[in-house]
Amino acid sequence: MTPQPKRRHSHSRALRRRSQDALTRMHLVECPTCHNMTLPHRVCVNCGSYRNERVVEVEG
Ligand SMILES: [Zn+2]
Repeated sequence: MTPQPKRRHSHSRALRRRSQDALTRMHLVECPTCHNMTLPHRVCVNCGSYRNERVVEVEG
């Protein structure tokens, strides 16, 4: 015999669980240095700067 749940979850309980499932759209901000769209609060992938300061070297 396979393990089975003792009781069925209520409709409201299932909805409550699924209320946490939705994904938010990816948010992008413009880099002040190279004006490329980049992720907020992260080093720009295009120019390697963060808050107008060069923090990492970019290849090429
Ligand atoms: Zn940049």
